[in-house]
Amino acid sequence: MSRPARLTVSLAALRHNLARVRQAAPQAKIMAAIKADAYGHGLLRCAHALEDADALAVACLEEALPLRAAGIKQPVVLLQGFFQTNELPELAAHSLQPVIHCAEQIEQLGRARLSQPLRVWLKIDTGMHRLGFLPEQAAAARARLLALPQVAALDFLTHLACADERGNSCTLGQLTSFQHTVQGWEGERSIANSAGILGWPQTHADWVRPGIMLYGASPFVDSEGPAEGLRAVMSLDSALTCVHQYRRGMRVGYGGSWQCPEDMPVGVVAIGYGDGYPRHAAAGTPVLLNGREVPLVGRVSMDMICVDLRSQPQARPGDPVQLWGEQLPAERIARSAATIPYALFTGVTARVPRTYTTS
Ligand SMILES: *Cc1c(COP(=O)(O)O)cnc(C)c1O
Repeated sequence: MSRPARLTVSLAALRHNLARVRQAAPQAKIMAAIKADAYGHGLLRCAHALEDADALAVACLEEALPLRAAGIKQPVVLLQGFFQTNELPELAAHSLQPVIHCAEQIEQLGRARLSQPLRVWLKIDTGMHRLGFLPEQAAAARARLLALPQVAALDFLTHLACADERGNSCTLGQLTSFQHTVQGWEGERSIANSAGILGWPQTHADWVRPGIMLYGASPFVDSEGPAEGLRAVMSLDSALTCVHQYRRGMRVGYGGSWQCPEDMPVGVVAIGYGDGYPRHAAAGTPVLLNGREVPLVGRVSMDMICVDLRSQPQARPGDPVQLWGEQLPAERIARSAATIPYALFTGVTARVPRTYTTS
């Protein structure tokens, strides 16, 4: 058999999750975050499947141009705006909406010669302390932008730092700070990421900005997608390739870090960190073999992992394995590897063949 590792992306699940966003935030318009190759799911396939979203959001110009080249007409927001002045004529030519988060960008915008003025978003830093104008700087930034002929319209956003923790009052502080800052200003408002959408309805405002929930993973540290009404979009599958009988005390894998506690069967699965399976997945990380969980044993290699087959001694090479997906939430693997589903999804490598399904 050829190497069985493969990625399947369900566009129907993506659409289901978009509908779940609508249901959770029925008054808001949806700006679907498809940066980083749609969180590793494929930019254009996902963008086309998200035709019901009111706008699309990417990180930068390079991620937006393929959307326009593919004929996608929705508004497209650049969440990090632009990095260099020479990008600005392209933004205008393709009607892209940059986020303006620092004073240098306002200066660059003021110097640009554009074919048409831009709709821009002013980013206010209410507590993330990464990008944006502090509340006390926001009025001056707004005034400078409104004075520029390069600006057609101005909208306002902020980003939540701790909304994934349901009890963290930092979110309410950010909300109050944002509302106070933009009070009375003409323009639309956007606050909520996935965690805000599902956990903090007060943050819905005019536009919500879902990312991870579109791809079926829970944004919360303590739950999984299905419990939030979401369907996994990505499934990473492979197969068992070998079955061995090892004796008590034999060590498995690099460093010999795992030792057989008794005579036992051990299986090899064709997936590894060269495919994007997390190198730091701990022994005991669940692996779905024939629809039932078996634990990972030993270190993750580049092309392989090993699993404990004591609960399935009848397993044979070719038996199906799921690493994460519809039957095994990526949140569980992430937890076991000290990472997050975002990093798992964006980390699947190009060598894994991809299939798209509409079911
Ligand atoms: C990526 C991103 C989002 C989406 O966040 P999720 O946690 O994936 O829902 C929203 N807003 C901004 C500014 C982002 O960069």
